[in-house]
Amino acid sequence: MGSQHDKSSRTGRRHSARTRLIHEGYDASAHSGAVKAPIYHSSTFLFDSAEDGAAFFRVNNKVALPDDPDQAGLIYSRFSTPNVDLLEKRLAILDGGDRALAFASGMAAIATTLMAFVSAGDVILYTAPLYGGTDAFLNRVLPRQDIRLTAVAAEADEGAFRAAADSAMKKGPVRVLYTETPTNPHNEIVDLGLCRRIADYMETVQGVAPVVVCDNTLLGPVGQQPLNHGVDLVIYSLTKYVGGHSDLLAGAVIGRRDLIDAVYGQRSFLGGVIDPHTAWLLTRSLETVTLRMKAACDSASRVAAFLNRHPKVSRLNYPGLLASNSRRGRLHRQQSSLDGSTFSFDVGTDREAAFRFLDALQLIKLAVSLGGTESLILHPVSTSHSNIDPARREALGFTEGMVRLSVGLEDPDDLIDDLEQALANV
Ligand SMILES: *Cc1c(COP(=O)(O)O)cnc(C)c1O
Repeated sequence: MGSQHDKSSRTGRRHSARTRLIHEGYDASAHSGAVKAPIYHSSTFLFDSAEDGAAFFRVNNKVALPDDPDQAGLIYSRFSTPNVDLLEKRLAILDGGDRALAFASGMAAIATTLMAFVSAGDVILYTAPLYGGTDAFLNRVLPRQDIRLTAVAAEADEGAFRAAADSAMKKGPVRVLYTETPTNPHNEIVDLGLCRRIADYMETVQGVAPVVVCDNTLLGPVGQQPLNHGVDLVIYSLTKYVGGHSDLLAGAVIGRRDLIDAVYGQRSFLGGVIDPHTAWLLTRSLETVTLRMKAACDSASRVAAFLNRHPKVSRLNYPGLLASNSRRGRLHRQQSSLDGSTFSFDVGTDREAAFRFLDALQLIKLAVSLGGTESLILHPVSTSHSNIDPARREALGFTEGMVRLSVGLEDPDDLIDDLEQALANV
């Protein structure tokens, strides 16, 4: 979308991330002076000449992301559009990646990324639990393509992780080490540095390291930057905190140029690119993501402190209350700068008590998803995690009394009042 002004003219210093999220990659003079980027609702783009079209295809046939999309040329909106290009430039900023790719959903980002790196006979080593959709894609879809799997517990120590890596390598070449931290809804913490060491260990055995992929949806790019802890690719459901208003569906993958190129080629074939209008909404969301996430996390800490004191609440899984001398607490503070605003807790011990509590809430809404301006709550065992085998679900720490709360941007005192009156029904 034209030239960019991403350096201060006075000092030559690069502007900070929050400034770049508002200005980078957009030149109003190339768009009739429009202060905000127009939306390009066009599925195809003109070539200036036959030779121009041929030149664009010479670049695109390499199935690599063009260095400068303005010069490599726009061809067809399944590859990119000006709105997608602008969003991708800005998405890479907070995570410090070379490049970003945006998708029509988080699951499109996850499926496309995995399919870019694995073929029949390859193995994926993953930490459990993962987001339900990811778990289902791994365990139900990929085995049909003869992709093999090994799971390791999210908080496995070095010895257990190494044993899982050895057992995975016996099944075939391990191409991907896939993780998600904190886990949802228990807020277990995966040691990302350990994931890197395990990937490096596998390189010494099998010759190539697996690509280390981390789903960072829960703390978002404001609360945690996995690329700084040895991860190769970061994945998002932008539907959650980054979009932040529960009004769109989108995903992203961010990281090193050569890996992003491989995913870009796959995206062009599978067709899961984000549409221009949703990309435009997300460039708007990115302007406030830092403010929104900090505010939601501040409110969540007030709400968690209230729940922590309440006699009817047990097993509160909130990272901000982890003891700093525990392994989990130490790791959390080392890897993350925010405590998040999505966490779980138990109200009573059975489903009836949990349902009485949920049905008595007036302000906090009962719905799946998280990270929006409005606070949402759900009962994982009967909804988001209902299709997991009950024995496996119990082993993963799910109980009938557990609820998951995503704290939004309402006044925390109003949320606490609502929780208090609803807890009286337990
Ligand atoms: C919601 C979610 C996804 C899936 O994203 P969609 O945008 O719903 O496709 C993946 N990972 C995590 C952690 C999520 O919360």
